Amino acid sequence: MARKGDIEMVVVMDTKAGEADIDRVVREVEAVGGQAFVSAGKLRTVIGLVGDTERFMELPLATLPHVEQVIRVGKPYKLVARELHHEASVVNVGGVGVGEGTFTIIAGPCAIESEAQAMEAARMAQEMGAHILRGDAYKHRSSPYSFQGLARRGLEILKEMSLETGMPTVTEVLEPADVELVASYADLLRVGTRNMQNFPLLRECGRSGKPVMLKRGMASTIEEWLMAAEYVAREGSTDIILCERGIRTFEDAYRNTLDISAVPAAKALTHLPVIVDPSHSGGRKDLVAPLARAAVAAGADAIMIDVHPDPRTALCDGPQALTRDDIAELATELFAIAEAVGKKPATHAARG
Ligand code: PEP
Ligand code: MN
Repeated sequence: MARKGDIEMVVVMDTKAGEADIDRVVREVEAVGGQAFVSAGKLRTVIGLVGDTERFMELPLATLPHVEQVIRVGKPYKLVARELHHEASVVNVGGVGVGEGTFTIIAGPCAIESEAQAMEAARMAQEMGAHILRGDAYKHRSSPYSFQGLARRGLEILKEMSLETGMPTVTEVLEPADVELVASYADLLRVGTRNMQNFPLLRECGRSGKPVMLKRGMASTIEEWLMAAEYVAREGSTDIILCERGIRTFEDAYRNTLDISAVPAAKALTHLPVIVDPSHSGGRKDLVAPLARAAVAAGADAIMIDVHPDPRTALCDGPQALTRDDIAELATELFAIAEAVGKKPATHAARG
């Protein structure tokens, strides 16, 4: 029998399984249009399944007589999987490449609070050699009483920041209804940790025509993160950048625990670029530089850093913002570490 695809699942029979038990599994698989390839050993038989894995998952295979184990060997995500797309992707963000072989710095204010504050932060980002500006007009705050962002006015300021510095921009989009508006101002749409599994938002972002930065949910596994990216990719674009930003653990000495392992682990599973946000990971200024250095050493394709001209007056995340005094030295260190792991600084966007 010719195999119509890859083996996606394996059923392992126990040592007491007889012909009838094996046939029972084969019939179940064939009944949903699948193919079953029986490989009989002296003691144990395994059955490889080819076909629609989602249909196989609905079958009661694990409960059939003398089935010892049912193992999914294929990945549940396809478009973002490295197994089907071996070469790492480079995502073009308004003329700046993010991905394999290069190292990119994204910097700017957490929130756009006023024109003066945001323009000053943009100049700081430019001075440190950043390639892409961040700045949020819509803030996803844990408290409804916290500053929520300047909305459309914030987007206008973001555009001015871009025109002033010649840098492309990234900003957060919170709701499906805002995607079109935000996409008309920014070069890269960001989906935050609290929205990682907001599937209608992911679909809308995937249809926007702009690349998407997808932050890891603070309590999500790497597989859940990649499945969320698959939602975006299914809409037609794999221009997706994954951003690790710390996860919830038992540790409460800092805001989140930066999962450094996620950088090489995710890169092994997906062709998408993986970057790190050391500012939101620790939530503390003193942790930003060490976490950023570790992330670049671990292979992060970019680092996204909060900067603020006067963090004491910040309306959002002041304690983690870097100031003018901190950034130049950090940028030099990060470029040196990037070079040591085989990455060249990204090229700056040509001024349009
Ligand atoms: C941010 O980058 O400003 C932000 C809100 O991040 P996160 O979604 O990771 O908390
Ligand atoms: Mn923030």
